[in-house]
This record gives sequence, structure tokens and C-alpha cells, in this order.
Amino acid sequence: MTDTLLRGRTLSFLRWPDSVDDHGAYAYEEDGGVLIRDGKIVATGAYADMATRAGADAKTIDHRPHLILPGFVDTHVHYPQLQVIASYGAELLGWLNTYTFPEESKFRDAQYGRRVARLFLDEMVRHGTTTVAAYCSVHKQSAEAFFEESHSRDMLNIAGKVMMDRNAPEGVLDTPQSSYDDTRALIGDWHGKGRQHYAITPRFAITSSPEQMEMARTLATEFPHLHIQTHLSENHDEIAFTQELYPQAKDYTDIYEHYGLMGPKTLLGHCIHLSEREADALSETGAVAVFCPTSNLFLGSGLFDYQRYRTRAKPLRIATATDVGGGTNYSMLRTMDEGYKVIALNGEKLNPFASFWQMTLGNAQALSLEDRIGTLDAGTDADIVVLDSRATPIMDLRMDTIATLAEELFLLQTVGDDRAVREVYVAGKPAKSPILTDAA
Ligand SMILES: [Zn+2]
Repeated sequence: MTDTLLRGRTLSFLRWPDSVDDHGAYAYEEDGGVLIRDGKIVATGAYADMATRAGADAKTIDHRPHLILPGFVDTHVHYPQLQVIASYGAELLGWLNTYTFPEESKFRDAQYGRRVARLFLDEMVRHGTTTVAAYCSVHKQSAEAFFEESHSRDMLNIAGKVMMDRNAPEGVLDTPQSSYDDTRALIGDWHGKGRQHYAITPRFAITSSPEQMEMARTLATEFPHLHIQTHLSENHDEIAFTQELYPQAKDYTDIYEHYGLMGPKTLLGHCIHLSEREADALSETGAVAVFCPTSNLFLGSGLFDYQRYRTRAKPLRIATATDVGGGTNYSMLRTMDEGYKVIALNGEKLNPFASFWQMTLGNAQALSLEDRIGTLDAGTDADIVVLDSRATPIMDLRMDTIATLAEELFLLQTVGDDRAVREVYVAGKPAKSPILTDAA
């Protein structure tokens, strides 16, 4: 297969960046190249060196003066909520009952699911996101629709059908047995097919009976290498209701511990109101706390204490995510901008290198997928985003006064969005889709 050589300003992180002066935390080439073969990165470095290594018939794509980074990673998003985004006036439990569950009930119809899955992945790519950890609806066919679409695009995505058997309308409920049977069948059909990963997905403790949580435990025991995704400690009413439903549990986190669901591949959405004991439990098991700033602000859920979680005696593994449709934007740039403000309200600042580390390598590490995605390292998959820091008139004007890479990244994060995404490569192929075209 013909080599592809991308030319531009390449930026890839090596580790957590402590400050704007921590230049050892990343690799940057002013005139850089990414050499791609068979969907993988062969090498990244100075353009001249990459041009020497490329095959004689290599196709060079010149992205100068734009930045070339690893594709963004979104670690928590609900694909059936494409039409729930921007639903007015509720907190979590009311929002679920009024808007979300009725919309998710439509995914019983496989054709509807296929249409939304296609539009959803179009949106992700358009915003520079090349990997998501997605919740599907309760219906097996919603997960099939997602995986079919994801596989046809050769995207590395994680997804699972939600398990939920109570405290929701009939149209979005399964049973302990059917949730087990459907999950097993989906794992068999989709996990490891191409780049697809299955996540065992009990929605949260409120919508799973103890009998269903036992089924989740069985699945986690039978498939210990799979991701598990659920929600934890998002909203005060949610926490109080959860404790009523599981009165024997020490706290909310203890429920997931009790059912054997806590481990290094467990992704826990929100984790806003954790006690010290709960935070210790996350730290000790390696479970990941997923920060969803636009969602937490939109639903009025609370302020995730990113810097304290990161630096406490028993630190937490942290990921960031959009959580659309509770979240209000598909862009990881917009997400980290709101994250910056949440962290500022907690009296701290997040430096722009750390922000870009988080949405690339940091989120890949949180998914235990850093050997595949999240960097421009040789041997990893060629999932790449190209960013234009002068994409809008205001960005163009502001760029005239910007002198450093850190300042440029902060501008991209603070005012950038999908307009700053010039191109996206998925497994080495250009993938940026046209704006929502609905042929269905
Ligand atoms: Zn969520």
C-alpha cells in the first residue's frame, strides 16, 4: 500500500505536562512529518527525515502551517442522545425521565438507530474526535447499529448496550436475564472485530436491580479484559435515591465494589461528590473518574475537583468527556474550555499543555489504549486531527499577538471548535465528513 506523509507542525505528548515551561513533556516539530502505512504510523519526526524514509510513490499531504495532533478521545458520551442535547430546565433525574428515556425508547427501531449512529459518528469526526466510549440505548439493536457504523469507518470505538431493568419507562427496560443474554451476544459478535471494543454497561445503580447487578458481576467475571462503564455520584438527589435503593451499601461507590465492577478498565462518569473513602476506593482499584464539564454545568450537578483528585495522597486516574446529551458540545476543545473554568472555580488552573495531553494521551491512558491511540508514536494507529489556529476572524486576529505554542493551544481551547478542525484521519484515511447530511 502507498505511504502517506502528512506535513505540518506535529505535536504529541510523552507524559503529564507540569507547566507551560515543561517542554520535556511533549515532542514538537515546526516542520514535521507523520509517515503512515497500512493505517499505522511508521514514524513521526522532522519532515526531511520522514521524506527520506517514505516510499518512492508516497503521497504527501501538506498541512502547513497547521498543527498535526493525535485525534481527540471522548471517554463518555451517549450516542442515542443526539436529539436530547439542549433540553431545557431540569436536573439529572427529571432530565432523564422527561427527555432522555422517551428519546432512547425510539432505538427499539433498528433503522432509527442506524440513522442516528451514522449522524453521531459524522459529528464526532467533524469535531476531531477519533475514539469514543459510547453508551447505546437498552436495545440490543442500538449497539448493533453503532458497531456496524463504527466498523464500516474503521474507527476504534468502545460501546455497550445499557443494562437497565427498573425506575424507567417500559420502553427502555430489559430484564436481568435479557441484559445478560444480549450483552453476551454483542460481545461475541463485536468485541475484537476490527477495531471495536465492547464495554459492559450497567447504566447506573438506580436503574439496575440487585439481580441485574449480579448479572453485571457475572459478565465482568467472564470477560475480565473488557471495559465497564457506568455513572457515579453526579447529583445529590441521585445519590440519596441510590442509597435508599441499596441501604446495605456504605456509600454509592460501595455498590459497584460489592458487585465486583471496580477495576482499571472501569469508567465512572462524573464522580463529583465523592467522599474521601470513595476516592480512596477509586484510587486503590485504578477505576477512572470521568470529568464531564459541560454536562456538570448544564445540569447544575457540581464542580469536579480535578486538581485535588489528581494530587491527593491516593491520586485518581482522570479522563475527560463530553457526556452529550447532558453535555452541550461535541467538541473536546469546548469541553476542555469549560473544564478549565470548573477547575478555576475550584481555585486552580490547568495549563494548556496539560489540557491537550488530557484530550489525547491522557484519555488514551485512562482507556488503557495508549499503545494504540493518543500519540503520534511509531506503531500506533494513524488517528489524527489537523487544527487551524486561525480558523475564525477572531482567532486570526488574536494569533497575531501570540508568541508561544502554549499560548496558541490555549487560544484553540478557549475559542476554538469544529471550525478549527481542518482534517481528521481515521486509520490513516481522511475522514472529515460534510456537515450533517441526512440521506435516510
Ligand atoms: Zn452519561
